Amino acid sequence: MKFADLHLHTQYSDGTFSPAELVEHAAQHQLAAIALTDHDTVEGCAPTARECAAAGIEFISGTELTAEFNDTEVHLLGYFLDTQNARLLAEITKFQTVRQQRIYEMVARINESGVPLDVQSVFALANCKSPGRPHVARALFKAGLVKHLDDAFDRYLKKGRVAWVPKARMSALESIELIHQAGGLAVMAHPGLNRTDEIIPGLVAAGLDGIECFHTKHTAAMAEHYLQIAEKYHLLVTGGSDCHGYSKAKPLIGSVKLPYEQVEKLTAAVRARRQPDPGGNGRAQ
Ligand code: AMP
Ligand code: ZN
Ligand code: FE
Ligand code: FE
Repeated sequence: MKFADLHLHTQYSDGTFSPAELVEHAAQHQLAAIALTDHDTVEGCAPTARECAAAGIEFISGTELTAEFNDTEVHLLGYFLDTQNARLLAEITKFQTVRQQRIYEMVARINESGVPLDVQSVFALANCKSPGRPHVARALFKAGLVKHLDDAFDRYLKKGRVAWVPKARMSALESIELIHQAGGLAVMAHPGLNRTDEIIPGLVAAGLDGIECFHTKHTAAMAEHYLQIAEKYHLLVTGGSDCHGYSKAKPLIGSVKLPYEQVEKLTAAVRARRQPDPGGNGRAQ
């Protein structure tokens, strides 16, 4: 059996692995295909694609966008993206800028609460265009200001805490359209995390292509539930570990195994979208 992991982060956003380290782990787990889904960036795709080519692993370019539908937050994964697409790049660059501003805001609030965290230490540690809360957590830990990373989230960074700053969210409808015009497929990430099934019909109507049924934080029952939803709405099925490297316990890569036949269905769907059958409806199902 061949397997894939289609939800992975590197140091181009808030993961800790370099592309080479990520692909080394993918090879150790004998994965046939991986997708890179760094938050609001596709910068890591080219180097990861090179590492994958050298290791004989199929690579799918991707990103993870933070979106909203009717005030409900939803993470959307874009797959098979043209990483040179001008509109995609312009749009994610805006979100990177907002992420950088958010770091200043979070650190200012931490400072106001009497904790002397240097904002430049966060940027130095993040060393990427798409910084996020895990970088603030790691900088707090490195400066000896918290006991561990979870402590940083519990005391400062999680919703409702002093340094929690909401993240800018793209409209889900615009996100789906943005992904499509960049040649990609739009997939709802980890739907079981916040149990927001009520927004699925609206996303489907907007052109959602797939749903992430298998995820580290999904129970077997949740996976089964979303497989049924995928069947009901004719959605493609994806899955991935959401590995952030060593930022949490042991690296999660390879712990969620998507059967490779689902990757073949994704590939067929993206091909059909790009070369619509004149007699068909352009979808692969
Ligand atoms: P951001 O995109 O900046 O809001 O950061 C979100 C990231 O923080 C996600 O990738 C999560 O993996 C991570 N995260 C969220 N909550 C926690 C938590 N309580 N402990 C550790 N990591 C977390
Ligand atoms: Zn992340
Ligand atoms: Fe997510
Ligand atoms: Fe993720």
